[in-house]
Amino acid sequence: MRVSNLFFATQREVPADAEIPSHKLMLRAGLIRKVSSGIYAYMPMGFKVYKNVEKIIREEMDRAGAQELIMPALLPAETYQASGRWERFGPEMFRLNDRKSAQFCLGPTHEEPFTEAVRDTFRSYKNLPVTLYQIQHKYRDEVRPRFGVIRSREFVMKDAYSFDIDEEGLDKSYQKMYDAYRRIFDRLGLDYTIVDADTGAMGGSGSQEFMVKSPIGEDAICFCDACGYAANEEKATCREGEPDGSDMLAIEKIHTPDAKTIEELVAFMGTTPDKFVKTILYNIDGRIVAAMVRGDRDINETKLGNIYEAMEMDLASFDDVERITGAKVGFAGPVGLKEKIDIVMDTEVAGMRNFIVGACETDHHFKNVNPGRDFNADIVKDIKNVKEGDLCPKCGQKIGMARGVEVGHIFKLGTKYSDALNCVYLDKEGKEHSMVMGCYGIGVSRTIAAIIEQYNDEDGIKWPAVAAPYKVIVIPTKTNDEQIMELSEKLYNAYIDNGFETLIDDRNERPGVKFKDADLLGIPLRVTVGRRAAEGIVELKFRMDGTTAEATYEEALEAAGKIR
Ligand code: ATP
Ligand code: MG
Repeated sequence: MRVSNLFFATQREVPADAEIPSHKLMLRAGLIRKVSSGIYAYMPMGFKVYKNVEKIIREEMDRAGAQELIMPALLPAETYQASGRWERFGPEMFRLNDRKSAQFCLGPTHEEPFTEAVRDTFRSYKNLPVTLYQIQHKYRDEVRPRFGVIRSREFVMKDAYSFDIDEEGLDKSYQKMYDAYRRIFDRLGLDYTIVDADTGAMGGSGSQEFMVKSPIGEDAICFCDACGYAANEEKATCREGEPDGSDMLAIEKIHTPDAKTIEELVAFMGTTPDKFVKTILYNIDGRIVAAMVRGDRDINETKLGNIYEAMEMDLASFDDVERITGAKVGFAGPVGLKEKIDIVMDTEVAGMRNFIVGACETDHHFKNVNPGRDFNADIVKDIKNVKEGDLCPKCGQKIGMARGVEVGHIFKLGTKYSDALNCVYLDKEGKEHSMVMGCYGIGVSRTIAAIIEQYNDEDGIKWPAVAAPYKVIVIPTKTNDEQIMELSEKLYNAYIDNGFETLIDDRNERPGVKFKDADLLGIPLRVTVGRRAAEGIVELKFRMDGTTAEATYEEALEAAGKIR
């Protein structure tokens, strides 16, 4: 492709909402174009990258025995009603009506239509297992679309679904996808971590996420370097200390004026935050619940929500807190609540003695509070977030924390959807069973951004060759110099003949401008044809490591085969 013909323009300025490198660079390099909030068009250069990533995913899915098909994105409400997700998706689902007022949505994920398709096609154990996939646009009206294609409202996903006769079969299908995912992300050059993930309130026997570590990641990952344990913070657990065996002291109410935050209270009482227990009131689908964790910890809302199979949950309103505790916000505690509500206590708190809590009275706290004696918890469960330095649940070494971008997710669903949609098979004896399902997603657009997050510098993108829109760019320094142009054209055609997608920057621009654009675009191999063209010598520059070398025509051609 001749750069003079390219439909592309680099941008010097990017909008202020582009906060992270990949978003800025995708806009600056003209890979994508914002059409609306969270909705992007892929321009030719961006679409090439998209197709490269898609190709690798497709090859590995096919290698794993998954078959590609394509479902509609526009789906009738009934498809999602039997599983309950028509309601459950809430405002995240894009909904619309047809001219007869029938309800439809734009598919946010496709468990239901795949389950229906398999149900209506296969009846016998002999047909199974089967794994199907598609690469398609998904629609989710995200609360906060941001970071360009990392969290957008229309995005490309590869979604696969496996159907087996039993859990054992599912384990095998799942393992195939796990292996395929590893090959995909390895081939794309991504540095990723596989973490245990939350399976949600609705069960499922296991789930893992593929995370690209990055400071801009929206997920927190807990990992142990000693034994390899890695889990999403939503799911991570830690080893707890021995229960405190000290004697219970007499409970005492203390006046704590002007001490609203834990820090102020700690200073006032001359102690440490781990001697406190925080009590936080939540509204979970309309029901108020008190959650208790040690004072130096945070509540893990995923764990708490799972207990109640929460659809919607939020902190309780000020009004609710004041009515139920009989005090201003900031003095909630398990003793003296004015209404009977569930008290959910973290397992660690169960092992504590003589701790401090809010007294359900403005400006007052209780000290020497003990579970069992002063109050009873309705539920004792792990509802805390793990933090840096906690002990690994597997080996007891210290846990580290990092941030990650979730590029893929694999999930053992079990029979949730097959039960709901009656997707059954007949066994040897002719008995009916629900198929056992797995689902497997890769965010194609998010993966592209993750590659850029990992491979960039102040000059632009540094594409790994497999993803690069073009592998080589030939840059003649002067377009009016015959020798330079002749050698440039000869090289350009030879690269194409050898199967390398190549650009030739034939614009009548200063070399500096061309170099800048080539760097911004991240083309792995730059071949500059300039002052030594007469001798047949060109300059190579490898974008990934910045190295340069002079090369003959043959060496320049060979170099394209070496880029990674
Ligand atoms: P997240 O927690 O980031 O919202 P999710 O758990 O909702 O993700 P899945 O439903 O598992 O995501 O979707 C599969 C994959 O699709 C994710 O691993 C991610 O790579 C991608 N993905 C999900 N939501 C978006 C989005 N809004 N924009 C771009 N990619 C997305
Ligand atoms: Mg999501």
